[in-house]
Amino acid sequence: MNAERILCPVCQVAFPLKEEKVPGKKIVCPVCGAVLTLENESGAWVLRRPKDMTPEEEIRARVENFARLRNYRFNEMKEPLIEALLKKYERYGDFYCPCKIDNIPENICPCLETRQGSVERDGRCHCGLFWKEA
Ligand code: SF4
Ligand SMILES: [Zn+2]
Repeated sequence: MNAERILCPVCQVAFPLKEEKVPGKKIVCPVCGAVLTLENESGAWVLRRPKDMTPEEEIRARVENFARLRNYRFNEMKEPLIEALLKKYERYGDFYCPCKIDNIPENICPCLETRQGSVERDGRCHCGLFWKEA
């Protein structure tokens, strides 16, 4: 049975949505770990960024989910990097990578490079937020 695919507004990947559809339900993107809200807009089901979470709650939940999904770990660099991601959000409107100059969709944390396996390759993501489990 093929589940309907639904687009993640964070990583822009469409993933199969197997769960029962209920407006307001929280869904975790299996690709980037973003916590999203299921909404019905003009008869179509869509995922939106949560309006009932603060930016800090949103990015913390996302990075925790992403680490759990990929079996990555954090170290003492986590807190300064969360702070830096929040600063980027305040200044530029989204969680752009703290260690990259370009504030572009590909650099929204967890960035495309990381989603494509840089942690497996290098042992850590570019900033050192996500680390491969030893
Ligand atoms: S390099 Fe690491 S901290 Fe920076 S955006 Fe990518 S995943 Fe996030
Ligand atoms: Zn996603």
